Amino acid sequence: MKNLPHKTIERLSQYRRALLICLESGKTHIYSHEIAKIQHITAVQVRRDLMLIGYTGTLRKGYNVKELIDLIGEIIDSDEGIHVAIIGMGNLGRALINYFSGKRTQLSIVAGFDINPDKIGNTMSGVPCFGLDDLDRLIQTLDIKIGIMTVPADFAVEVADRLVRAGVKGILNYTPKPVNVPKGVYLEEYDMITSLEKVAFYVKMHNDEE
Ligand code: ATP
Repeated sequence: MKNLPHKTIERLSQYRRALLICLESGKTHIYSHEIAKIQHITAVQVRRDLMLIGYTGTLRKGYNVKELIDLIGEIIDSDEGIHVAIIGMGNLGRALINYFSGKRTQLSIVAGFDINPDKIGNTMSGVPCFGLDDLDRLIQTLDIKIGIMTVPADFAVEVADRLVRAGVKGILNYTPKPVNVPKGVYLEEYDMITSLEKVAFYVKMHNDEE
């Protein structure tokens, strides 16, 4: 399973979210074309992804929703759960904590880090905020594997380097500044400004065409 394409991993997470909603509504089986419709992709794509994880449905009934949720969980969750830290407990950092809270039991945000003395020592949205001096020690003792960066862009490179040195294995970079990580550390960049500008560009194009 190590060589699953990144996009497949992303879609598996999305499939699971859709499947959980189906399960809650009492649906026990689902066809690839139904999943495809929810995700706005093709049924061929869904079947290809599920074949990659070794799951085949029955032609007559489709996929077993519960079985598929469990299988996706086995692939993308880790048995012992994963500890996450937020670096930069500003508006975005706190919003992420609130958003994640209770959503994924396998992923828990166990610590926040900041340089603002007014924030250090406080608990924000249930997560304790520490100073950067404690970063290396706590990454080790709390077994933090993922760092989410919500610091101002100017500090992105420096914070990413510190996280890598401290031993995290994955970084989710919410700043608009790209960073580099060595092999063995997985980096995902999510620049909201670029995403919004891209949407705005297509809205503008559409307006110009009218
Ligand atoms: P607030 O008004 O609560 O400070 P904000 O969202 O306006 O929030 P930003 O300027 O975007 O704040 O910064 C995000 C957070 O990152 C802040 O809490 C800030 O103190 C913190 N921060 C800034 N530089 C660093 C750094 N080098 N390491 C860790 N945290 C930092």
